Amino acid sequence: MRKNLLVGLSMCVVLANISPVLIAQQNNLAYAVAWKQTAAEHTALYHQGFNIARMQLEIAIAKRSEFEKPLAIISDVDETLLLSKSYWGYMLASGYDFFDDAEWDAWVGEDLFTPSPGSIEFAEFCRQNDVDIFYVTNRNQGETTFDLARKNLETAGFGKVETNHLIVLRDTSNKEVIQQQIMQDFEVIVLLGDNLNDFSRDYYVTDVEQRRSLVSEKRKGFGVRNIIFPNPTDGHWLRAIYGDSEPPASSINREILHAAASSAAWQKAKK
Ligand SMILES: [Mg+2]
Repeated sequence: MRKNLLVGLSMCVVLANISPVLIAQQNNLAYAVAWKQTAAEHTALYHQGFNIARMQLEIAIAKRSEFEKPLAIISDVDETLLLSKSYWGYMLASGYDFFDDAEWDAWVGEDLFTPSPGSIEFAEFCRQNDVDIFYVTNRNQGETTFDLARKNLETAGFGKVETNHLIVLRDTSNKEVIQQQIMQDFEVIVLLGDNLNDFSRDYYVTDVEQRRSLVSEKRKGFGVRNIIFPNPTDGHWLRAIYGDSEPPASSINREILHAAASSAAWQKAKK
């Protein structure tokens, strides 16, 4: 009971900082962020992903002598290895209902990321077994992007990040070119990401059904070569709805989201 009271009080404190207009409107992000912040299922999915990645690595390590190149994995950074819980908590507490790039850039500089569940142990397993980790990210915080990304990873506990193992793609979200380059020198066993674009540029289409049918076509690769982590707040799945991965907060975009969410609505017969 006391715990519930404290939760209620803390909510009041949070809400006191928000204008009545923002409190009154439905926040598009609330369910997704609440799930990321609280659901043990969210935690379990990360452990599941890293467990599967480790299983694939164990298979490869057992037959390492068959490979001509050293073993490696390629991982996305944000919402794959690093979680941005306090950014999303701040966004909700401040009344935002869409991702905000300026707030994100300011928050990234604060170095408040937390490692995703199981990620540190997985990275340690890679290190102990001479499996190189390549970090590939589409972040863009200007000239500071690389240094910030490295600092965020190291602060979160990923150990020293070598310069040639962190690739920051500021001008493009197409990861395939660098992936192909890495694969020339390394036997890449798995790719990790929270966005299908972390695996293949094929998914970079602005059509919801097309993305889904591509996943069906490539289904045998999931849990084998491609390990996907959950992210209900941001990513190219939003681009398929809006045509833009980071749509501005607007009435029309709230209507577009509502239409997408109710696209499979039950046509209940009137009695
Ligand atoms: Mg990501």
